[in-house]
Amino acid sequence: MDDKLALYIHIPFCLRRCNYCSFVSHDGRQADIPAYVQALKHEIEINASGQQVGSIYFGGGTPSLLSVGQLGDLLKTIHYRFEVDALAEVTMEANPGTVDGAYLSTVRTLGVNRISIGVQSLDDKELALLGRIHTSEEAKDVVELARNAGFDNINLDLIYGVPGRTTDQWKRMLDEIANLHPQHLSLYALTLEGNELLSLSIEAGQVEAIDLDKTADQYELAEDMLKIRGYSHYEISNWALEGYQCKHNMVYWQGTPYLGIGVAAHSYISGRRFANTSGLDSYLAASKDGGLPVRGMEEEIGWETALAEAVILGLRMTRGVNSGDIKSRFSVDLLDRYGSQVKELTGLGLLESDKGSIKLTSRGRLLGNEVFWRFLP
Ligand code: SF4
Repeated sequence: MDDKLALYIHIPFCLRRCNYCSFVSHDGRQADIPAYVQALKHEIEINASGQQVGSIYFGGGTPSLLSVGQLGDLLKTIHYRFEVDALAEVTMEANPGTVDGAYLSTVRTLGVNRISIGVQSLDDKELALLGRIHTSEEAKDVVELARNAGFDNINLDLIYGVPGRTTDQWKRMLDEIANLHPQHLSLYALTLEGNELLSLSIEAGQVEAIDLDKTADQYELAEDMLKIRGYSHYEISNWALEGYQCKHNMVYWQGTPYLGIGVAAHSYISGRRFANTSGLDSYLAASKDGGLPVRGMEEEIGWETALAEAVILGLRMTRGVNSGDIKSRFSVDLLDRYGSQVKELTGLGLLESDKGSIKLTSRGRLLGNEVFWRFLP
């Protein structure tokens, strides 16, 4: 297993808050971006001591609200303070409506070699319902602009289970998406926690509720259609053409170390998990005082939890969890330790065993949480 550090940088700014958003991000605070970039540089300098870095990921929020100067400044600091692999995967999330061709070309020249575009839907009515700032044409244009700028590793984010979407609409949308020839696709079910604008509209009866059966049907349709188009379904929410699995996200699922920089960023280093404050003001204040951003949560991961997490995260991957890997990492036999869970879940049609590995079935991928809690200590 590769133990190089994965570096995540959180950019918590957006032009406008989407109606379904529950991420840590602020609209109307762009004036704070210069101070925030300084604070990020400060945190990088405190945390770095020349560790090897295998991937860098600018996530958000909307990282494409950074100017090319600010992005270049951050990358320079990272390269100065860490030993970044020559072949490191460097991803930036970009939202349509915030980038043009010149911006993307400069970003590519600065060393970003993977771009993740928040398309979410190719239906303008749905985009309006979701509160996105762009149209479907603008989203498609960004894919073209990114390709022309030299990006040959493009991810598109899409949402399924949008209220009112029919199977036919979703089928057409998936065809259209595949015709854009992205190397990678991340598909997420629309999930609401209750306090988003869209939740309130549903509660008020202005928008129809999310239909879980339709959501499941759309997921299964995506599995079938993307397979035909040559995408391998390598993780519950992720599909890729051969050779384009996201290296950075694999780190989360394989339990290797990652360092999160910025507001609400999480880290996992030497068996210890910690998170930064999720408040933008407290983050900026801590940096101004010269300290580390307040740690919101610190946790020592014991053997029992580490084993359970290895199984749960491993099951997210389509290849599943290999008993040999578990044996070499934890000196325990997977089936001795979890025999009753495996038997029960296999009986329910959620899990299957194959050549020394356990993996989710297609139904298990739909009902992942039903499976995962059974492995918790
Ligand atoms: S772009 Fe993403 S982070 Fe920003 S408001 Fe929309 S969903 Fe939230």
